[in-house]
Amino acid sequence: MGTKSLLSRGSELVSPGSQFRILNETLAAKNLPGFSETLNRSGIGPLTPVETEIFQMNLGKLCNQTCKHCHVDAGPDRRENMDKDVMLHCLSVLAESPIKTVDITGGAPEMNPNFRWLVEELSKLGKKTMVRCNLTVLLAGEKYRDLAEFYATHRVEVVSSLPYFEKRRTDAQRGEGVFDRSVEALKRLNAVGYGIPESGLVLNLVYNPAGAFLPASQAQLEGEFRQILEKRHGIRFNSLFTITNMPISRYLEYLLESGNLEGYMEKLVTSYNPSAAMAVMCKNTLSVGFDGSLYDCDFNQMLEMKLEGPIENIRDYNARLLAARTIRVGEHCYGCTAGAGSSCGGATA
Ligand code: SF4
Ligand code: SF4
Repeated sequence: MGTKSLLSRGSELVSPGSQFRILNETLAAKNLPGFSETLNRSGIGPLTPVETEIFQMNLGKLCNQTCKHCHVDAGPDRRENMDKDVMLHCLSVLAESPIKTVDITGGAPEMNPNFRWLVEELSKLGKKTMVRCNLTVLLAGEKYRDLAEFYATHRVEVVSSLPYFEKRRTDAQRGEGVFDRSVEALKRLNAVGYGIPESGLVLNLVYNPAGAFLPASQAQLEGEFRQILEKRHGIRFNSLFTITNMPISRYLEYLLESGNLEGYMEKLVTSYNPSAAMAVMCKNTLSVGFDGSLYDCDFNQMLEMKLEGPIENIRDYNARLLAARTIRVGEHCYGCTAGAGSSCGGATA
């Protein structure tokens, strides 16, 4: 397993076509049904959206980390970044829209040169803003030194990945030294009030499994994280979200290289849960790519599966036409519907 992006290593997994082919062949080899067929058989049929509640902006693939399981294939070598023009289009849509929540992700979205300006503009619009912060960016140099205070000023909800409460498992997945730096960043966030219930400043953590298995119970893991992080490091947080690793991009590479792909796909398919399928996040989310392209979710975005229908870019936003679309699905969607379900906000069923 390399520690650079798939792109910089020239991996065939950069191509969504290769990823689809691998997933299709894996299901076929095990005689497992495709995701659309499973949706139909369970009586849910094609997925359609409800009213958009979450406007997710992916600011680009630039990141200070190169985590082994990254579905974005992000890293320091990636240069894709949302420019101000695309952000202005997003802001003008949001100004006219009842959508209340904006979820900012990346890469490390803080590394986008217009990140702080965007948060300030969203704050002026009165939107609830969430940022998916990888924690170590708070320690990535002078430029980011006051990030915790900046977040607090704008009442940004911080959502941070911490795969485990121990160094070995966290560093194995996210890179050498990441656990210690994450702990330091969490302390900085706590110091300005994040994770302290009376402050109203929300700090949520995200757990994803270290290997080819589904997450354990969200409530149980949250209890363990809370107890151990507080006891060993004095760290507090609000909630823990469990997320299932999606069989795409660098996690797909891990599955292939470790010989776990067939077993993992079989686990996802046989753990299909219709309740989770009815609650998938693509139903109430709109995902915007760094170039303004629109997708049903961040996973479809990374697989370059643009929205079905005539609206392809935020420049052409039309809520009525978007509401009439069918959500595009693929075999990777089993990752959202297995067991207790998985979304950017954790378990769904
Ligand atoms: S998982 Fe997050 S922190 Fe890790 S490389 Fe991807 S975008 Fe960066
Ligand atoms: S991968 Fe995206 S489109 Fe598929 S079920 Fe999950 S959220 Fe929906």
